[in-house]
Amino acid sequence: MTDVLHPALWPTAESGRAPLPAATDVLVVGGGIAGTAMAYYLAKAGVEVTLVERGELNREASGTNAGSFHLQLAIHQLSGQGAAADRERLLAEARLSLKAFAMWQELGEELDGPLDVHLTGGWMVAETAEQLRTLRDKYELERLAGIETEVVTGAELRRRAPFLAETVVGATYCPLEGHANPLIVAPLYALRAVQHGAVIRTRTEVTGIDVVAATGARRFTVHTDAGSIDAHRVVDCAGAWSGELAAMAGLRLPVRSEGLHVNVTEPRPRLLTPMVQHIGRRLTLKQTEQNTFIIGGGWPTPEAARPHRYPTSWHSAAGSTAVAVSVVPALADVRVVRTWSGVIVFTDDFSPIVGESERVPGFHACVSSTGFTFSPLLARRLATYMASPSPDRRFPERYALDRTTP
Ligand SMILES: Cc1cc2nc3c(=O)[nH]c(=O)nc-3n(C[C@H](O)[C@H](O)[C@H](O)COP(=O)(O)OP(=O)(O)OC[C@H]3O[C@@H](n4cnc5c(N)ncnc54)[C@H](O)[C@@H]3O)c2cc1C
Repeated sequence: MTDVLHPALWPTAESGRAPLPAATDVLVVGGGIAGTAMAYYLAKAGVEVTLVERGELNREASGTNAGSFHLQLAIHQLSGQGAAADRERLLAEARLSLKAFAMWQELGEELDGPLDVHLTGGWMVAETAEQLRTLRDKYELERLAGIETEVVTGAELRRRAPFLAETVVGATYCPLEGHANPLIVAPLYALRAVQHGAVIRTRTEVTGIDVVAATGARRFTVHTDAGSIDAHRVVDCAGAWSGELAAMAGLRLPVRSEGLHVNVTEPRPRLLTPMVQHIGRRLTLKQTEQNTFIIGGGWPTPEAARPHRYPTSWHSAAGSTAVAVSVVPALADVRVVRTWSGVIVFTDDFSPIVGESERVPGFHACVSSTGFTFSPLLARRLATYMASPSPDRRFPERYALDRTTP
């Protein structure tokens, strides 16, 4: 493994501010995990690619997330439970999880760097009989999809997870869950992309997109605050702002964005190795390699107009801590030392948005809510399609960019 932490290996901040090229085959917009992964896989496949990021790389969702691999179906994905179409979607997403999991196993080697991938396993807990029923339904779906989970209750649960409160009546356990370091993954993708010939420009905000022609080598003129660039193809990797970017090309993506709050505690002697999530309350909890606890789970933050960052909130700091303490009582006297916020994108129907628009040929997107887990896989697939477009490499209809555009 090369010493990726050696400063001489990394492009300087100034190189990110060099003039924008006049033209490119693919323009990727957004320097989070999705955009940098797209740039890497495209450049590696020999495609000419330029990435523009309005701030610095990895400063939004990709660098502010909890770094967990979510393989168990999350409660929000079960909201439409019952409909056959929903069941099919859940099964498909669960199968996709397995592929994402397999990819994470090899990603450190592929990028030749320390991604801090740890397989810790994960519990998803229930505190009511109804929640336990939902967990059992979830378990059935995961079993059908080939995800290894089990339902654990009673004395067996107390033995295997003694840190859980008595109020926890049952839980599913999945050995495949874990985490990686969100501070290194996207920067390393960017480094490797540049080494394969990608051009990366930071502090370059896309402000408008002219769709110049439906065919030919230059279909788009993209305007930025650092000048304009002609592009044959565009990839929208703007995360929570992907809807705004697509609107510049005349598309309406089915997305909404939300601010999420995260708490971090002081370190304590090791209490739990697996991640803990809740099927009915807002909680994800894990103890890091440094023995601090990261507490999240979807607690909201107020919005703020750019360039301000979304602020954290007392309500969410206290609320998320209270849920964590009620599920893992040993946290009661552990001090929260830091909070932060990040902005996440949700799709209205919970499916990712990946592929090429039919309404605006050449306009692509790679957008996902559980994007730390899934972006490497989705970006690799989209780059494979773009390097050699063919109908059999198209994405499922439910991922379509145009699915809600009238
Ligand atoms: C608090 C929190 C916790 C999370 N926890 C997890 C987790 O544990 N596991 C998991 O799998 N997922 C998690 N997620 C979700 C995950 O972080 C995101 O899905 C993923 O990072 C999205 O990556 P992205 O590259 O699409 O978006 P981002 O990382 O947000 O990158 C988009 C980039 O586009 C840039 N941009 C936007 N508009 C423009 C423009 N007009 N011109 C130029 N640049 C532009 C932005 O500046 C930004 O840098 C979490 C998210 C949050 C906020």
